[in-house]
Amino acid sequence: MGRGPRLVLLGRQGAGKGTQAQLLADNYGVEHLSTGDLFRAAAAEGTSAGLEAKRFMDAGELVPDATVIRVVEDRFTGDFLNRGFVLDGFPRTLPQAEELHRVLDGHPLDLALDLEVPTEIVLRRIAGRRVCEKCGATYHVDMPPATEGVCDSCGGRVVQRDDDTEEAVQRRLELYEQETVPIIDFYCNLGKLSAVDGIGETDDVFKRLVDQVEQHFDPQSP
Ligand SMILES: [Zn+2]
Repeated sequence: MGRGPRLVLLGRQGAGKGTQAQLLADNYGVEHLSTGDLFRAAAAEGTSAGLEAKRFMDAGELVPDATVIRVVEDRFTGDFLNRGFVLDGFPRTLPQAEELHRVLDGHPLDLALDLEVPTEIVLRRIAGRRVCEKCGATYHVDMPPATEGVCDSCGGRVVQRDDDTEEAVQRRLELYEQETVPIIDFYCNLGKLSAVDGIGETDDVFKRLVDQVEQHFDPQSP
């Protein structure tokens, strides 16, 4: 039988990372863990690190490295490591990547996949996004509701979220760049990095990702 792969998926916001992470997890029958899932599960279990993470999230703040690291230490043990996983949105910083590497001792990561979509494209995807204030239905300037500014399903007002403005997205992308370049170097030095072209249909991108996993993952390895 062998085990499932241990994967990290990196990529800019708007690169389709969440979708691909779920497809990979389904394909290999392993758990898809986003940072939010990781913290929510820890909070639900009532661990002190989990509750601390929840306080930051409830306040709309990024969870600091020290807290993230404690959550990770609690979670990445024994059976979980043997089953395999797809991490999405974690590690976000170099200290988090180093900590993950330490915690995985003896059960190393199989591959970090960097889903590459150029800034201009993700910027257009996110800055073009519009959302219904009332029911949360999402639209895009390229795929607007039938009547401009009016939701097709509930008649509510369709607007741009404050944090979807080009300026706000640009700021987040810059932060991502600063934090992620060191992570990419880190995995590159470990020989664990594969860059994958993230442009195109979901299925095509997924095939490229699986192709990389198949080349690097041995289910019989420890
Ligand atoms: Zn609506």
